[in-house]
Amino acid sequence: MQVPYEIRYRRGVHLPALDLWIDARAGRDLAVVSHAHGDHIARHRRSICTEATRRVMALRTGSRRRRRAATAEPPGVGLAFGEEVEHRDAVLSLHPAGHVLGSSQVLVSHRGVRLVYSGDIKLRAAHTAEPLEHIECDVLIVEATFGRPQFRFPPTDAVVRAISDFCLDSVAAGVTPVLFAYSLGKGQEVLSHLAGAGLPVVLCGSLFTVTEIYRAMGVRLPSAQPCGGTLPPGAVVICPPHLRGRSWVERISPRRTAYISGWAVERGACLRHGCDAAFALSDHADFDELLRYVERSRAQQVYTLFGFAEDLAHQLRRRGVRAEALAASRQLELGLG
Ligand SMILES: [Zn+2]
Repeated sequence: MQVPYEIRYRRGVHLPALDLWIDARAGRDLAVVSHAHGDHIARHRRSICTEATRRVMALRTGSRRRRRAATAEPPGVGLAFGEEVEHRDAVLSLHPAGHVLGSSQVLVSHRGVRLVYSGDIKLRAAHTAEPLEHIECDVLIVEATFGRPQFRFPPTDAVVRAISDFCLDSVAAGVTPVLFAYSLGKGQEVLSHLAGAGLPVVLCGSLFTVTEIYRAMGVRLPSAQPCGGTLPPGAVVICPPHLRGRSWVERISPRRTAYISGWAVERGACLRHGCDAAFALSDHADFDELLRYVERSRAQQVYTLFGFAEDLAHQLRRRGVRAEALAASRQLELGLG
């Protein structure tokens, strides 16, 4: 099939025929934003995104007033899943991607062709994100973060149990467990899975504020307190990875640290990330799940993007799928697993 319009990647996906930007990394007049992780956002004049994404994006890119309002204002401004908006002679809609709360795949219907941009996707059920919707399309742009066969994640139940045991064992030994998890998505997922452990939880930095946005959007989560001051007895601390080595964390003593990411399946993950333990709880699809996602899309042309884009395109071609890499790298990639 001939792709009816050009697809470019230049700090964001660009569809020139529609002059439409998706996940642009530089400010644009109009951009569709799949979700609010730092490597998908910029300060745009107008954004098309879900309400959860809009709020977290306001927290990260907005003025002080907008940042304050992000946790307080009533919902209703963002686009609902499945709601259609017209753009020139195309129709756009957002569909759950399963990655973090409000994360979206973008469906563009244009001149009889259905194009889907996956954004970051997770196929496994999550406690704190809407389940991914499989969409059939003609052209698929799919993320390739874990697009190599060595990235196969263990069963989620086993990983979650191991994280809980790590916390309970540490507390029983009089040691504070410190879990490093990204502040949008992974942190809330870990908090939710720790509910059964019955331990008090302290959230560091932006993780606390983003969690308040989750609560405001109706996600039920165990209680937690912001960091600062004295830790309650037996507390678990959840911290964004960039706070590793900061003085507040360094002052927690004695402590045991754990890195929580899909990258934990790599050999030497503890050493590489300077932690005592590593647990492979991911908010992305693993290699097998990426293949399954592509297969279910029934796309006639696939473009891979980010991470191991060349490898995934090669693996798809071996399986008879017409695939090529759109862009092979992005900054921050290794931090967001
Ligand atoms: Zn992401």
